Amino acid sequence: STWWRRVEPAPKDPILGVTEAFLADRHPHKVNVGVGAYRNDDGRSVVLECVREAERVISGNTNMEYLPMGGNQTFVEETLKLAYGDESEYISNNKIAAVQTLSGTGACYLFAKFQRRFQSNSRVYIPIPTWSNHHNIWRDAQVPQRSFHYYHAESRGLDFPSLMDDIKNAPSGSFFMLHACAHNPTGVDPSEEQWREISYLFKIKNHFAFFDMAYQGFASGNTEKDAEAIRIFLKDGHLIACAQSYAKNMGLYGQRVGCLSILCENELQALAVKSQLQQIAGSMYGNPPLHGSLIVSIILTNPDLKKLWLKEVKGMADRIIDMRIALRENLENLGSSISWEHITNQIGMFCFSGMTPEQVDQLTDRYHIYMTRNGRISMAGVTTGNVRYIAEAIHKVTR
Ligand code: PMP
Repeated sequence: STWWRRVEPAPKDPILGVTEAFLADRHPHKVNVGVGAYRNDDGRSVVLECVREAERVISGNTNMEYLPMGGNQTFVEETLKLAYGDESEYISNNKIAAVQTLSGTGACYLFAKFQRRFQSNSRVYIPIPTWSNHHNIWRDAQVPQRSFHYYHAESRGLDFPSLMDDIKNAPSGSFFMLHACAHNPTGVDPSEEQWREISYLFKIKNHFAFFDMAYQGFASGNTEKDAEAIRIFLKDGHLIACAQSYAKNMGLYGQRVGCLSILCENELQALAVKSQLQQIAGSMYGNPPLHGSLIVSIILTNPDLKKLWLKEVKGMADRIIDMRIALRENLENLGSSISWEHITNQIGMFCFSGMTPEQVDQLTDRYHIYMTRNGRISMAGVTTGNVRYIAEAIHKVTR
């Protein structure tokens, strides 16, 4: 029969292609700075000690029942505290509609579907560049997309004036997708003062802010500091929404644990919104997975484990910050005439190096260093063992 004859292969994910090519390479000094997952200084993936401890607690628990549709309630409550603050009255007054989601991706998609259903004429403004999946998510949810300026290529920093212009020129009441911290792929975040100005302008324009927070704690090493943008918006009285993920900051990538929250005007509205979120999620996957939510709720409700977690997040962020310093110093010591200041100005998992696609090709072909052609270096793939090699190769292809 002819049912699937017209199906063409979907375009390949650019990062998957990088990993495949890396795995096929047999060179002894090959380096993968493509993937957006943390690696330790030996280049290995990491299971956090707090997670191992939580797993020991869970191992005696044979309950495999379904979670409620909205997920593990202890998990949700603890997760909200991270974003909105331990003492947030929005949490105690039940003004936040929140459900456990399939990590950050699932949270973004659930929000996009909700936006489409209840603000059916709205669009979403997305920064250029952004995590490529943002485009897929809002496209599949059938929400039209507009872009706003974000990255300034010359300075390798924020194009703040253009960003403010775009916020100003968007029709009042527009939806904006904002990276709460550690912007992917650029590593460029607004300063605290710039966030204040953005929030102020959002207030004037009555825009809606959706925060994608996939890297809380990964930027500065401090989860409170990384929630600063959200806290500024809350202080200014915005009714925000937020996607949270434990993929990076708890290393729970494959467990798919995250949360979507929407701050409402009152408790009744929050109940209604939550029930609708549950209904949308219910038709996609029934209810969210159990195991990862248990890991998180055990860690966050045990003061010792929570302390250990915060220390381990800081450890990961600090290693990345150290590698930024080392990469920059190595390049400067090699006598590079280019300014590499942006390596240490940028923050989080990624460095948007400014290298051209051709330079990236040379890095790969001549030096077996694998990364996406937009010049994005995953700093998590940089180690004390390979930083000199990477710097020499970058120096050779950029001089
Ligand atoms: N948002 C951004 C900006 C990301 O970089 C990522 C991970 N690459 C995600 C969301 C989602 O990740 P996950 O679904 O694994 O939580």
